[in-house]
Amino acid sequence: LVPRLQPFTSTIFAEMTALAVRHEAVNLGQGFPDTDGPAGMLDAAKNALFGGANQYPPGPGRPELRAAIARHRLRYGVEYDPATEILVTAGATEAIAASLIALTQAGDEVIVIEPYYDSYAAAVAMAGAERRVVGLVERDGRFALDLDGLRAAVTGRTRAILINSPHNPTGTVFTRAELEAVAALCVEHDLIAITDEVYEHLVFDDAEHLPLATFPGMRDRTVSISSAGKTFNCTGWKIGWVCASPELVAAVKAAKQFITFVSGGPFQPAIAHALDHELPWAEDLRTSLQGKRDRLAAGLAEAGFAVRPTAGTYFVCVDVRPLGFEDAAELAWELPERVGVAAVPVKVFTDHPDEWKHLLRFAFCKRNEVIDEAVTRLRKLR
Ligand code: PMP
Ligand code: GLN
Repeated sequence: LVPRLQPFTSTIFAEMTALAVRHEAVNLGQGFPDTDGPAGMLDAAKNALFGGANQYPPGPGRPELRAAIARHRLRYGVEYDPATEILVTAGATEAIAASLIALTQAGDEVIVIEPYYDSYAAAVAMAGAERRVVGLVERDGRFALDLDGLRAAVTGRTRAILINSPHNPTGTVFTRAELEAVAALCVEHDLIAITDEVYEHLVFDDAEHLPLATFPGMRDRTVSISSAGKTFNCTGWKIGWVCASPELVAAVKAAKQFITFVSGGPFQPAIAHALDHELPWAEDLRTSLQGKRDRLAAGLAEAGFAVRPTAGTYFVCVDVRPLGFEDAAELAWELPERVGVAAVPVKVFTDHPDEWKHLLRFAFCKRNEVIDEAVTRLRKLR
């Protein structure tokens, strides 16, 4: 393995899931739902599967899916031409990697917000670029963007900023003021923004998802990335997409076409159906997940953790120190065997493990009885 990929030999999700299986633990580590998406979407996939949609779809994605993605994006008031400004990818993961490979190279710096989703560091490394990490800061009871830190991180070599909201693992949703500041910085320094919006529909209470591309000066310098997995409970289908200017989409496509070429033939029409007809289902999912967030957060507090607030995503983070632990990773590694629950330590998503070592991430995208069982088991930690 080449040196630049040596830090990335295994993912925390694979490791924790394997440990959970070994100890028959309740797996609140890897974020995936334990129920299926809307029946209409599953039917559409079945019909496509038996209706002959089993060969290579077109390179940029099936036309009806690109049209549905454009209609969906219009909800935010940004218009994209399905012919030249939308690219279907193998999940957001491929979209992120292909964007970085296409748009950054050795000598370039990419600003990454810490903690970061694990694929970001690996994808920046695959591109040959360097990550420059700016940490979130706990302020006013939430994880906030460190705008001074962000400004200070820009150098003559900065090419792009990779930004994820709603944010995994903290559950923070960036505010209008935060995104305005990011947009202003991108415009001032002529940076490309790559946005990871996979949890765009999973925002709670009065939080609102605001795509960075909708801010002044951002439409044509933003690669907006999302995927269907989280919105429609189909994380295994790996249907993602990129919306951007024709120039940026053409660049990402140049990389993407030699990574997977295409993927997900019969799932593409099913996601087109879902985007056009199943958003009310997704709204019910959002409401239900908000209840699950509250259920798990209350249980974790009862178990003795200090619970951090979550405004979006599948995840709630807790501080393990009130229970007498210092390092959440040590706890995470023994938790499946000790009480039969799996979770993910936040420090693995960072370059500064000491600053983040007290936080543990739990996923609440599970049936209520699964959440309750996890809480019952975690109470034994006291
Ligand atoms: N970005 C974030 C923030 C995620 O949490 C995930 C994981 N589920 C992904 C990207 C990957 O999305 P996909 O499964 O569509 O590749
Ligand atoms: N996005 C999911 C999480 O954060 C995991 C996806 C994966 O296993 N790569 O838990």
